Amino acid sequence: MNDTQTSVYRADENGYFGEFGGAILPPFLAGPMAEVAAAYEAARQDPAFEEELQSLLSKYVGRPSLLYFAENLTRELGGAKVYLKREDLNHTGAHKINHTLGEALLAKRMGKKKVIAETGAGQHGVALATAAALVGLDCEIHMGAIDVEKQHPNVVRMELLGAKVVPVERGGRSLKEAVDSAFEVYAAAPDEYLFAIGSVVGPHPFPTMVRDFQSVVGREARAQILEAEGRLPDALVACVGGGSNAMGLFDAFLPDDSVRIIGVEPAGEGLGTERHAATMTLGRVGDLHGMHTKVLFDESGEPAPVHSIGSGIDYPGVGPQHAHLEQIGRAEYVSVTDDEALDAFQLLTRTEGIIPALESSHAIAHVVKLAPTLSPESIVIANLSGRGDKDVDFVAERLRRA
Ligand SMILES: *Cc1c(COP(=O)(O)O)cnc(C)c1O
Repeated sequence: MNDTQTSVYRADENGYFGEFGGAILPPFLAGPMAEVAAAYEAARQDPAFEEELQSLLSKYVGRPSLLYFAENLTRELGGAKVYLKREDLNHTGAHKINHTLGEALLAKRMGKKKVIAETGAGQHGVALATAAALVGLDCEIHMGAIDVEKQHPNVVRMELLGAKVVPVERGGRSLKEAVDSAFEVYAAAPDEYLFAIGSVVGPHPFPTMVRDFQSVVGREARAQILEAEGRLPDALVACVGGGSNAMGLFDAFLPDDSVRIIGVEPAGEGLGTERHAATMTLGRVGDLHGMHTKVLFDESGEPAPVHSIGSGIDYPGVGPQHAHLEQIGRAEYVSVTDDEALDAFQLLTRTEGIIPALESSHAIAHVVKLAPTLSPESIVIANLSGRGDKDVDFVAERLRRA
């Protein structure tokens, strides 16, 4: 990689990827966020930090995760060879632990005693509570009161892990209010907490930092496919909510122009309805949660209510680097519906005996469309971002109703 190639894929010192990103914050938070950026920059260059993180990733998370050749699925689809990057096999069952451990280590290094975050379905909350338990930090998770009821098992998990779960009763009692509530607590005492964002979103340095923590996924996959096949893949496919598992897989392959890079968004009940979360496909450029990116707005200019069957990917924004990769033509973004994701969930479960998360099923659903259009010599790697045990009751109920 030469310097010009590298810089296209790295944020500038203000956190911009081309026109997207930045740290769009009120003045009283600009200082604390700049401190996080400086602390991360120092940590990144400190071999001891990198060593501690790598050690936890191998000894605690169980990395490297497998790159599995899905031979039955390949035969069923009749086209490209399909490989799955098995992030579902990580401790806690998804990719999120890769970056929450990094965030917890950074908080400890900064001398913070607490991490704080909001959570929707509870997956980020559980991953952060896990990392906090391990590293020895207090953890406070804000969650809409409706989600507290709907996602009861994740609330129990967080509490067992020692986290304080704060139900948010105001307004729509959902994720949006949880973000505001967590943010207010943080803003009142920014020195006490690290606000641990759950994806490659929010103000600089989070889009860069969370990507870096997740980039182990792509580094492993690149080495594993070279070992297995002696060459690079033809395409990468990953689901995109905020976009962390996708950036994690994509990052190591960005300079490899022969590798097609495809992000898959939730089309929900259809792009023609109001029930989707296809930000890259239908969003417009604006500001959300401290970043300049693509956003789904409603008519009044507020972030739109969004929907996906995958509760971890129903977000009205997207990581700024994705908006940039699309703009420079390095990555493509497509969408699949709830029904297509459900079909893919069942297909992978039946053909390979692997139950994928409904989020990850979006990536598989696109592979179902893509693989048959490619020759049998082609290679596709899909990121299996998480396991689907959390989704089996919902899927069973939905199939019974269908
Ligand atoms: C949270 C989650 C996602 C979506 O988050 P990204 O930041 O877009 O990766 C995808 N898959 C699983 C299993 C998740 O838990």
